Amino acid sequence: MSADPLTRPDTARRRPAWHVATVAELAPETPTAARLVLDVPTWPGNDAGAHLDVRLTAPDGYQATRSYSIASSGETSRVVLAVDEVPDGEVSPFLVRELRPGDQLELHGPLGAFFVWQPSRDDRPVQLIAGGSGVVPLYAMAASHAAAADPAPFRLLYSVRTPRHVFFADELAALVGPAFDLDLAYTREAPDGRQGDIGRITKDTLAARTIPAARRPQVFVCGPTGFVEAVASWLRALGHAAADIRTERFGGT
Ligand SMILES: Cc1cc2nc3c(=O)[nH]c(=O)nc-3n(C[C@H](O)[C@H](O)[C@H](O)COP(=O)(O)OP(=O)(O)OC[C@H]3O[C@@H](n4cnc5c(N)ncnc54)[C@H](O)[C@@H]3O)c2cc1C
Repeated sequence: MSADPLTRPDTARRRPAWHVATVAELAPETPTAARLVLDVPTWPGNDAGAHLDVRLTAPDGYQATRSYSIASSGETSRVVLAVDEVPDGEVSPFLVRELRPGDQLELHGPLGAFFVWQPSRDDRPVQLIAGGSGVVPLYAMAASHAAAADPAPFRLLYSVRTPRHVFFADELAALVGPAFDLDLAYTREAPDGRQGDIGRITKDTLAARTIPAARRPQVFVCGPTGFVEAVASWLRALGHAAADIRTERFGGT
């Protein structure tokens, strides 16, 4: 018996497929990252937090594929990515510095049914924890939460090098309100007056600045692999159940 199309989850209707994207807009996102706005006429839409694969093909036929989280969500043919340049990387320097409006890219997606957030209409709190470009899928969740006027309280703890390295800085600031709290943790340079706060996130940071385990928040953690693994183990030590913690590792250390 097939599922009722009216009650079937969106993810079931959004089977991954290959798509051709045209670069509509490019803009610097941070000193090392770019925002890519892509027109993808065949895009089926995506849940907040999903990712896709970008495949590049060189003139000699050599191909390279990398995953990127999607900063946009919902039913739209405009797909937004934000790519941080990994020095000496194969794909990210091309996307950040060489790509031009009108260029075409091959995309496969949407991907990832686990690391997604959907409006729930319950009031279970959601704690987002990002390191660097790992904020991309978490920004999509926060924006989707605001667009849906979902009642769940959201908090984002975002570890970032300096104020200039905050992805979606204006958009995140605009989301702050009774249902969304933004907490920036700087690792190298803080805005004036906060120099004493500089440092990497630790277990103590999580204990002091995230929703306590006793409130059973759903927790999403995303960033470099080492960051995600450290944060996830500290969350477990602080009493969060493994089933309440969802992680996405971007690679690197
Ligand atoms: C599900 C998923 C979603 C992702 N979403 C994003 C995103 O939204 N934005 C974004 O900028 N990146 C994202 N990434 C990372 C991205 O897929 C690439 O790994 C990254 O762009 C580097 O690719 P590259 O070809 O330039 O480097 P490579 O040539 O693959 O690697 C060069 C060197 O850099 C190291 N390295 C690889 N990845 C990283 C990394 N993320 N950080 C630090 N060092 C690294 C490698 O170990 C290697 O030593 C995501 C990864 C995954 C798995």
